Amino acid sequence: MADKREAGVVVIGLGRFGASLALELAKRDVEVLGIDRSPRIVQSLSGQLTQVVSADSTDIEAMRQLGVPEFSRAVVAIGTELEASILTASLLVDLGIDDIWGKATSREHGRILERVGVHHVVLPEHDMGERVAHLVTGRMLDYIEFEDDFAMVKTRAPAFAVGKPLGASGIRAKYGVTVVCIKRPGQDFTYATQDTVVLPGDTLIVAGTTRQTEQFAELS
Ligand code: ADP
Repeated sequence: MADKREAGVVVIGLGRFGASLALELAKRDVEVLGIDRSPRIVQSLSGQLTQVVSADSTDIEAMRQLGVPEFSRAVVAIGTELEASILTASLLVDLGIDDIWGKATSREHGRILERVGVHHVVLPEHDMGERVAHLVTGRMLDYIEFEDDFAMVKTRAPAFAVGKPLGASGIRAKYGVTVVCIKRPGQDFTYATQDTVVLPGDTLIVAGTTRQTEQFAELS
């Protein structure tokens, strides 16, 4: 058996999601085989990925001929065409791809992809909708929620913390959150320590439970 192209990624379906994913990988010098059945889309991405070809990803012979089984990672980025998404995903499972990612347009779609053997299911529209909901109703500058109700929030430093070291403002004891990073205007983020003095206009990254991080951001 040929050696797997460990570092490469096959991206199937080069719509908005698949194309931006493939281009981001290419920007990071990752070998990308992009596949879409639309010659127009393939043409528009030609020269920007390692290889981009027009093919029907539900055709197992075509996938074999393109060398898809040589890759250990693949992303099924077909969203709206449910049947093509599921058939492609099961075909990748049959081809023995070690690490398969699938984009789902609904929770039900995600469950089917998991059932056929996709290892990681993402729901970009759903997840982004939830994330924006937190941003529009609060004072956070950015927000990432992890599993188990844990989040990281980007927020302005609250007035009570300004002018003293983080260790002296008792943020963790009072609000249950940990300040992980701090950024002065015009500078890069650095790790925060007990001795980091907060200045007016500083931006903080804080970690904690979803509720605690949101409440802390409201103080800004
Ligand atoms: P987005 O919402 O990210 O734009 P879409 O689901 O609209 O995603 O786009 C999916 C892409 O997948 C389209 O470019 C379409 O041509 C491609 N596609 C759909 N079915 C197949 C298939 N069987 N083989 C290859 N490409 C496909």
